[in-house]
Amino acid sequence: MKTLEHVRAALKPYPIEVEFPDIRRWEAGTHGVDYVHTFDSGVAGPHVMIMALTHGNEVSGAITVDAFLKRQLRPIRGRLTLAFGNVEAYHRFDRRDIDATRYLDEDMNRVWLPEKLDSDQDSIELRRARQLRPVVETVDLLLDIHSMHEEAPPVMMCGAQHKGRAFAATLGVPQTVVVDAGHANGRRLRDFQGFDDPASHKNALLIETGQHFSRRSQDVALDTAARFLSTTGAVRHEDVVEFLGPENPGPQRFLEVTCPVVARSMDFSFVEDFRGLEVIEKAGTVIAWDGETAIVTPHDHCVLVQPSLRHLGVGVTMVRLARILDEQPTRLRF
Ligand SMILES: [Zn+2]
Repeated sequence: MKTLEHVRAALKPYPIEVEFPDIRRWEAGTHGVDYVHTFDSGVAGPHVMIMALTHGNEVSGAITVDAFLKRQLRPIRGRLTLAFGNVEAYHRFDRRDIDATRYLDEDMNRVWLPEKLDSDQDSIELRRARQLRPVVETVDLLLDIHSMHEEAPPVMMCGAQHKGRAFAATLGVPQTVVVDAGHANGRRLRDFQGFDDPASHKNALLIETGQHFSRRSQDVALDTAARFLSTTGAVRHEDVVEFLGPENPGPQRFLEVTCPVVARSMDFSFVEDFRGLEVIEKAGTVIAWDGETAIVTPHDHCVLVQPSLRHLGVGVTMVRLARILDEQPTRLRF
């Protein structure tokens, strides 16, 4: 039988174009939680947070939080938290097995359910999430920085609620925004409690910056995070202008996830070398094979969101399918 090792061995590894920052200097947090730094302006305003390393090998977020801490960014209103999530996985990154340290015991972006956090289950990621939880519970506006297995244009995941769409539109980057309710096998940080409650003022975004180790992904992370802090009024625009990319963002396109494609066997393969955001025009087009079963597009103009074989497993989502939305959300004011 085919194993994940066989699958990964057949895939070309991406080059590591970026430096992994030494984040150990940030280990002592400001308020007793390791790798969590909170600064209070002393002026009323929201608690704004940037989270890096929810996945341990997604270095673009670590580069960004490291750069912002080095720059000594401070809020002009409310509070600002800059944090590193799965630091244990990050410290164990291995250049010979670059996909292995997404997490150590379990995916830290599937544990954000109160029942799970309060349970007597134990894992490295649950222990870390329990440390982070009291901080996260006081956050009003969150940006969770992720990156992708494959090189593809950046994507903002704004959750299922209208307020998330409006937040993504207010930020104005990246060009593609994906409206989605997360994953069936757990709850993401982006969807934790108030972030996913339409009645709550809290709001959160998850940026997928590009391929984990690409230079472009690093640039997208810095640019998006700088816009996030400036747009929310957390910091002065001039304090983050050095992190902005040279391009002015164009109009955004909003996609809505219609269904996931979950592998039922280890004999899963795509019919083409899809990397993400390909549009398949006709319903019924075969995009993949799962053993003998053809996987077909369920509707016209079907967009592939983050197809990848790098974490193939029975029950694992291999790609999500999306439709293109017509309406443009109204923007928020902070
Ligand atoms: Zn991730």
